[in-house]
Amino acid sequence: MLSYVTTNPGKVREAEQYLEEVRAVDFDYTEIQASELGPIAARGAREAFAHVGGPVIVDDAGLFVDDLDGFPGPYSAYVEDTLGVERVGELARQEGTLRAHFRCVIAYCDGEGFAATPEPVDRGERRGQDLAADDRATASTDDTVDAGDVPVKLFEGSVPGRIVEPRGEGGFGYDPIFEHDGETLAEMSTEEKNAVSHRGRALAKFGEWFQARTQ
Ligand code: IMP
Repeated sequence: MLSYVTTNPGKVREAEQYLEEVRAVDFDYTEIQASELGPIAARGAREAFAHVGGPVIVDDAGLFVDDLDGFPGPYSAYVEDTLGVERVGELARQEGTLRAHFRCVIAYCDGEGFAATPEPVDRGERRGQDLAADDRATASTDDTVDAGDVPVKLFEGSVPGRIVEPRGEGGFGYDPIFEHDGETLAEMSTEEKNAVSHRGRALAKFGEWFQARTQ
């Protein structure tokens, strides 16, 4: 069965609408520091796969304030923990910078290789080597797995919006200060947020691909 590996129950709630058979696994994998979400999610998926020993997804997301060069971006979790969501909102508004977008990368790993499709594959330490598209990793699923050798498939989604005064009780993280089409993500139900959100878009792509892979 597919495992959604995360310590964030909010993410699991949103994923349930897209994935029929998925179980949540509460495991705190290492989040490396990088300037892009993809490598962070891919590294996390390898570690999660080594931990679970079966197909996993992890997701890495971030708020990118466009006119602040994408801050806090991949550092969104650290900035939420240190400055807090309201302070980020205040800073962005002080700068008069309201345009922002959320991005989410879903990373899938099951220890196998992938046929070519438009979505990218992160090959970790093997990146740059001349591998056939359907090359299979030789990873085992025990504790000795060399997670750095396992290919990971990436699915990205994003949503444009603007930074506003906090509104709404739903969602999590930066949702109260992120408005899309007149409503903050925290004012939306889970279904409404999924219909427009970065995670919803990434999950929709992943769900379709995963169904074909498992048929
Ligand atoms: P991570 O993907 O768990 O590393 O999350 C990065 C940061 O973005 C954390 O501060 C989360 O609270 C925040 N975040 C992730 N996804 C969302 C979302 O859908 N809405 C609001 N904040 C989010």
